[in-house]
This record gives sequence, C-alpha cells and structure tokens, in this order.
Amino acid sequence: AQVHFRAGGALAALRGRARIIKAVDGVSFDIRKGESVGLLGESGCGKTTTGRMLLKLEEATGGSVTFDGADLGELRGEALKNFRTRAQLIFQNPFDAVNPRFTIRATLAEPLENARVPAAEREDRILAALELVRLPNPAEFLDRYPHQLSGGQLQRVVMARALILQPDFVVADEPVSMLDVSVRAGVLNVFRDVRDRLNLTAIYISHDLALVRYVCERTIVMYLGRIMEDGPTEDIVHEPLHPYTKALVAAVPVPHPDQDHAPLPIGRGAPDPLNPPSGCVFRDRCPQAHERCAAEIPAPRPVGSRLVACHLYEETAMAPAKEMA
Ligand code: SF4
Repeated sequence: AQVHFRAGGALAALRGRARIIKAVDGVSFDIRKGESVGLLGESGCGKTTTGRMLLKLEEATGGSVTFDGADLGELRGEALKNFRTRAQLIFQNPFDAVNPRFTIRATLAEPLENARVPAAEREDRILAALELVRLPNPAEFLDRYPHQLSGGQLQRVVMARALILQPDFVVADEPVSMLDVSVRAGVLNVFRDVRDRLNLTAIYISHDLALVRYVCERTIVMYLGRIMEDGPTEDIVHEPLHPYTKALVAAVPVPHPDQDHAPLPIGRGAPDPLNPPSGCVFRDRCPQAHERCAAEIPAPRPVGSRLVACHLYEETAMAPAKEMA
C-alpha cells in the first residue's frame, strides 16, 4: 500500500461541545509501501484522528486520503470492501476491541465470514493467524473467552484478527499502552516481526518516543493538530530540531521501551484545542518563541533529512539566499 494523506488548509472536524474542533489542520504526508511511520505526540495532538482518517473511519471535511492512487472519499461498494480488507486497525485496549461474549474462535472467524472465506478453511486460517502472532499452543485458546486471557495474550488475538485477511496496511493505535510494562516488549517484537514478514505498510500511533523508536524508521511529531517535524527516527532522536521535539527527547534522554519518562521540560499540557494560540500552536510552551511566532503559522519546510515547522529554521534556510543577493 502507498498512502497519501492531506488535511491541508481545511479541517478534520470533531464535533465537540457544540463547536467544531480542528483535530487535524494543514497536515500532509506520504507513506511509501513497506514503510513504518510513527505518529508521535501528547494526547489531543490529532494523531488518533489522523490514523482514523487514514482508515476511512473518520471523514475529513477537507483534504483527501489516497490509497494506492484511489481517493478514499470516492470508494463505494466492492472497492470500499476491498479497502476494508487491505487496511486494518489494531486497537489500543484489547478488551474494548473484542466482544466479551465471543470465544476466540468466533472472534477470529467473524472477519473470515464477512469476507466469505469457505467454512472448511476457517479453522486453519485462525490457527495460522494465532501462530503468526506467536500465541503459544493456539488450539488451546480457541474455546476460551476474552476474560480468560491476559492482556498480552488478548492483544495478540486482536493483532491476529487484524492480520487474518492478509492486509497490507495497518494502523496500530497505542497498541501496548494498556498492557503491563513486563509484556510490552514481547508484543512489540511480534508487531515488528509480523510487519517485516508480511512487508506491511504501518502507522504506529504513540505518545511514547521510546516505543516509536523501537518500531518505526520514520517519525512524524504532531502537536495540536499540526505536524512539527517529520523525518528519520534516528535523526530525530539524536538531533531533534523543532523545540517541541527537543522537549520530547529531553524527557527520555536515551529512549528505550522499558524506560520511564521524566516530565516534559516545557511545563503544563497542550492548550485547549478550542482556543489554540495564534501563529505557531506551540508558541505558549516554546522557550524560543519570538515576535513572528504569534503572527505567522510556520509551514513545514525541508531542513536536511527532515521537514520542520518552525520559524527558526525558515530564517536559517533563507540566510544563504540573502547573502547571495
Ligand atoms: Fe517556537 Fe516560534 Fe518555532 Fe513555534 S515557530 S516552535 S514558537 S520558535
């Protein structure tokens, strides 16, 4: 799958408290086939809305999402059904993602039934999917109910269900955040392994830089519905450019999946999305904010291997041109 996402200029609307919140605004990116991209940011930054729009679970009021050249907004009938097979969501909380009254067999049979896979093939497909996510002795789980599994086991079942129709695009929304720290690495390893074996194109949504670093070669840092920085994960970790990314990296000096975070060194949380600051949305937490930041929204611009949305870098980029004039 190759994906192009653009919620540019217009907004992706979430109707909250009788007003329209700009959940995502001016966000645009492409994802190459087989690429793993982390959407990183604090809660309320628009990363989950972006993920849901990529899967056509949320409609943008402006912009577009194209999937292998097809505009998701135009998909109907068989084409939409085909997209729903190829693109899957892995939920944050595995206990919310399954019907508690369904056995594991029934949970995994449901997508196969919807896709009209012959009944005779289903049991083999179910066992193969559970083996793929390395659930030990999968046959023993088939007649169990979700409450009889641990969080880590159930998240593997949720992953197996997302993969059972052999998708090529997966959005994983904080898939380990509800799990005990001791089982996170195991689930993440399964995710990485499956992604590589199936050559999945993957979006990994997280507030946790260490987890994104563990899973994704590229990271898109979001803040209040906008992209702050977009580039290779290792470059971002070793030399963050945007002041917000710098704060995220400073909170986890040597990012690692098992490591606790220090508080962000930029004080209180993000501002109310109903009432964002003028100009740069990060302005009221930014230690380098200056006059221009209140007046103009910085557009993402190329800086080396990355895109950075900050006036500091626009000024740097423009300096050589001024010298030549
Ligand atoms: Fe800070 Fe200004 Fe850059 Fe925004 S544009 S991150 S306020 S320096």
